[in-house]
Amino acid sequence: MTTEATRPGRRSGETPLALTRRARKMARILAETHPDAHCELDFRNPFELAVATILSAQSTDVRVNLTTPALFDRYPDARAMAGAEIADLEEMIRSTGFFRNKAKSLLGLATAVVTRYDGELPRTMAELVELPGIGRKTANVILGNAFGVPGVTVDTHLARLVGRFGWTTHTDPVKIERVVDDLIPRKDWTMFSHRVIFHGRRVCHARKPACGACTLARLCPSFGTGPADPVQAARLLKGPRVAELAAAAGVPAP
Ligand code: SF4
Repeated sequence: MTTEATRPGRRSGETPLALTRRARKMARILAETHPDAHCELDFRNPFELAVATILSAQSTDVRVNLTTPALFDRYPDARAMAGAEIADLEEMIRSTGFFRNKAKSLLGLATAVVTRYDGELPRTMAELVELPGIGRKTANVILGNAFGVPGVTVDTHLARLVGRFGWTTHTDPVKIERVVDDLIPRKDWTMFSHRVIFHGRRVCHARKPACGACTLARLCPSFGTGPADPVQAARLLKGPRVAELAAAAGVPAP
């Protein structure tokens, strides 16, 4: 059945059933392409993941991972962070950018977790999104990676890629999340999100995607958005597994 959420994207004439089959095939290929996909933020408990995810906005996971050890050392839980001086918090997270807003969010989050939930982060989407600094995307990261509750994380990479995949023409994150929810089995939502994000970081870049060195090329209606030439495309691959990514796509390593 075609619903608003599952309306086909850019592959004209594709039926909902064909789209589902193609989407699942692409998800299987992504699993083979990125066996190392995982949450790249370091954390030891749900509260730390919430803090790290808030800090990761407009920053990189590497930068956040350099910042959080000292932060968690000084404020090991929500109670400790709720008692922080905002100026001290700002100073500790300055290098992640937008530090004043982020410090405000962290203090608000810690205070709310202490006053409403006795210091423990809640485990439901409805409760999480009511907390300061936590939107649906952050809530899905926390649910999927700290609580084992499947969730699709619609970040900038996932939004861009599912559009290029021709799965949807929506740009609204909540609608994109529903589309993916309908196409991919629930148990795979969290890992699927990591794999798409890895593909976005390493292969299907925003400006120049490595189409000619992409394992999804035959199933992707946006093939050709970036260089189709295998040699040229392989040079665009990024990350620690460039040789493996090229081999998986059947092209020579750069
Ligand atoms: S073929 Fe190109 S646009 Fe499609 S997923 Fe691969 S890199 Fe992205």
